Amino acid sequence: MFKLAERLEKIPPYLFAEIDAMKKKKMQEGVEVIDFGVGDPDLPTPEHIVEALKKAAERVERQKYPSYEGMLSFRESVARFYKRRKGVELDPESEVISLIGSKEGIAHLPLAFVNNGDYVLVPEPGYPVYYASTLLADGIPYEMPLKEENNFLPDLQSIPDDVARKAKIMFLNYPNNPTAAVAPKDFIKEAIDFCMDNKIILAHDAAYSEITFDGYKAPSFLEFDNAFEVCIEFNSLSKTYNMTGWRIGFACGNKEILAGLLKVKTNVDSGVFEAIQEAAIAAMDGPDSVIDENCRVYQRRRDLLVEGLNEVGIEAEKPKATFYVWAKVNRNSVDFVKQLIDKAGIVATPGVGFGKSGEGYVRFALTRGEEVIEKAIERLKKLLHK
Ligand SMILES: *Cc1c(COP(=O)(O)O)cnc(C)c1O
Repeated sequence: MFKLAERLEKIPPYLFAEIDAMKKKKMQEGVEVIDFGVGDPDLPTPEHIVEALKKAAERVERQKYPSYEGMLSFRESVARFYKRRKGVELDPESEVISLIGSKEGIAHLPLAFVNNGDYVLVPEPGYPVYYASTLLADGIPYEMPLKEENNFLPDLQSIPDDVARKAKIMFLNYPNNPTAAVAPKDFIKEAIDFCMDNKIILAHDAAYSEITFDGYKAPSFLEFDNAFEVCIEFNSLSKTYNMTGWRIGFACGNKEILAGLLKVKTNVDSGVFEAIQEAAIAAMDGPDSVIDENCRVYQRRRDLLVEGLNEVGIEAEKPKATFYVWAKVNRNSVDFVKQLIDKAGIVATPGVGFGKSGEGYVRFALTRGEEVIEKAIERLKKLLHK
């Protein structure tokens, strides 16, 4: 009786439904399923952050409607965090806004700047929200393939001139989900120049900016010349501080772009619960040792999983950042994952679910402990060595 709007019908169906059903079935059969599918940290939010929420939640003045753009004290804390971790100066009054998780900001950005028929440049494979939010704004996603031969960076020179001219936003995401690739400085400069030349908003999703290994530090795009002319950077406490359920993130960078996004938000939501902002301040102003410890845990898991995969003949490299391993299975990724679930009780995500260039790859999330990873490797040995 109720027909979905055309813009919603254009959004492709959830590709992992079949995988989820298989996983459920295995669990019902009593199999102890090992799930490397979800990119959601298993580690707890650090204690001092939880305590800050508890204290703030009890205060009446924190229980009221928050401001749309976030408490000034929260935005000042973001500015300190960016100064300390990235060497980037932000004006907390005009160059930072709070978000209900960075996904919310990413999803709302096209509504602020995209007209019917405008292009949005989106990485493929990629986080599905870039594609979907473009469609929700009646824009046209133009997919930029991320290929291994280009180190999983888009080839900006191959974007046709007429597409570049009609593009309003380019989404990029480094360190990258799902490929775990990082962006070299030359590429970031090239992307900023490209967006300057074509008057395109460079929307950088930096959700994994602090999850880095082997001494690598992921730069903020805002460190580079001209970045404040064209760039909005999305960041989040979700991965950095194991706070996915808390729903708090922020956007920073170009004032005009932030003001546009905020205009959408003032008409859609009413900001982030102030007690959660207080907890976020405690996180960002707290010791960086909690981030370092997080990274150490993921790095050990990374080494264990990649070495194990290589031992059983699955090609995978140790990534410099993110908590994903992008394994090259060289065959149909959905079939491979179905076989993993069915024969070994192991769940991973088929690369094709993130876009057609993800075919032939499988994503493992490092959100399970070392013992579980070891058990998974044992199962893989049995499965693949026979
Ligand atoms: C996890 C993730 C996010 C956002 O998470 P929030 O919890 O909404 O802040 C954004 N982009 C990518 C690529 C992610 O993997």
